[in-house]
Amino acid sequence: MKVKIIAHTPEPEKTVAAAARLCYSKISATEILENFSQERAAAFIKKLMDMGHMSPTEHVSFTFAIDGVSRTLLAQITRHRIASFSVQSLRYNNPFDEEIANPKDQALIESESISYLEGYALSSKLSGNSNLKNHHKRKQYGIEGLMPQDVENLHKAAYVRGVFDGAGLICDDSEYPLVFPQELKSVFDVAGLDVSLKEDVVLIQNPSDFGMYIYENMDFAESLYDENKFLSLCERDDKFQKQILAVMQEYIDAKYYAMAPESITTKPKALLSYIKGLDACKKCYIDLVNMGIDQEDARYILPHGTQTRIVMTMNVRSLYNFFNLRCCERAQTEIRQLANMMLEEVKKIAPGLFESAGAPCEALGYCPEGVLSCGKYPSYPN
Ligand SMILES: Cc1cc2nc3c(=O)[nH]c(=O)nc-3n(C[C@H](O)[C@H](O)[C@H](O)COP(=O)(O)OP(=O)(O)OC[C@H]3O[C@@H](n4cnc5c(N)ncnc54)[C@H](O)[C@@H]3O)c2cc1C
Repeated sequence: MKVKIIAHTPEPEKTVAAAARLCYSKISATEILENFSQERAAAFIKKLMDMGHMSPTEHVSFTFAIDGVSRTLLAQITRHRIASFSVQSLRYNNPFDEEIANPKDQALIESESISYLEGYALSSKLSGNSNLKNHHKRKQYGIEGLMPQDVENLHKAAYVRGVFDGAGLICDDSEYPLVFPQELKSVFDVAGLDVSLKEDVVLIQNPSDFGMYIYENMDFAESLYDENKFLSLCERDDKFQKQILAVMQEYIDAKYYAMAPESITTKPKALLSYIKGLDACKKCYIDLVNMGIDQEDARYILPHGTQTRIVMTMNVRSLYNFFNLRCCERAQTEIRQLANMMLEEVKKIAPGLFESAGAPCEALGYCPEGVLSCGKYPSYPN
């Protein structure tokens, strides 16, 4: 999410103060401004705010460029009627037009799958694991369980991922976090991975580096991998989990032009499920467009998590109302984050004007939400 003020009324504090002063003066606003210092304007604004004389703040407005927010946020923010909006349209912008024009190289996807399956089959064979998965695919590609040097167009990371899924063991032991049967030592040597032989096992001491090696560039919707193994590694290693969750967010942004809320992006299982949903929607959208359905109708299948860009203009009075409602802990996370970022930006330009803006509790010293209070402030005035 990005927010930038791209325009605002010049000299916002002086403009508000002069408009307010006019109410109590015999001279024109032009004359008031001629002799009006910034200090006097600031003092006047403070008085204005204290007495709740808010209409002069309507003379000043700010225009924000907001990027990388969801269409869920769009639905919420456009409920604020005292504002002007321009929104990136899915009628005219197909987020996947480049991919439709240049579909992914199927041969590349296949050779990555073959590398994975060869690694999986070899490690299963050497470790005596007879519970082989992906039976159909192995048959389809004639998988034999080849050593890496014998695999045509080897994708090293996919191959090692197959080895991990076929024979890797994730342990609680801090000295032996990831182990493989010793017969697999030469596989890791060929892949160029740093492993050691300890007692009768191949030992990987740095699970996060290993995890990043095999998953970082993986396509979470299309590549072959054992989901349970992936989740176990996330659970086993906090560092890996943190790194891979960041990678998955970038993946969602790049592949689906979408974003996920924080409650999902912090949980690997939820994020994998979310990706499956995004993938189904995207595939259906592309199918519809390829059938000749207009983008304006194909977009019905795109999720609320799809990103958009907004230009929004609000006057200061409306911004006060917006910050009041949306900086509050009770507001939904994404719009709350945006509101807090916007408040930070306007305060840089007009600190006096926005001194008491924000969640109501910050100005009141108590929470007016009653039983719905987040607990940050007492519910009623002391
Ligand atoms: C925590 C939270 C939960 C919410 N949940 C829901 C929900 O479940 N369902 C739902 O539909 N919405 C929900 N909303 C949206 C909410 O009801 C408002 O539509 C939204 O916050 C815009 O606020 P607003 O009307 O004050 O802003 P604006 O539309 O910008 O209006 C600003 C102010 O102008 C005045 N005003 C504007 N139009 C009129 C009018 N026609 N008549 C009289 N006065 C007017 C009011 O004083 C208003 O406060 C929720 C909002 C929040 C913050």
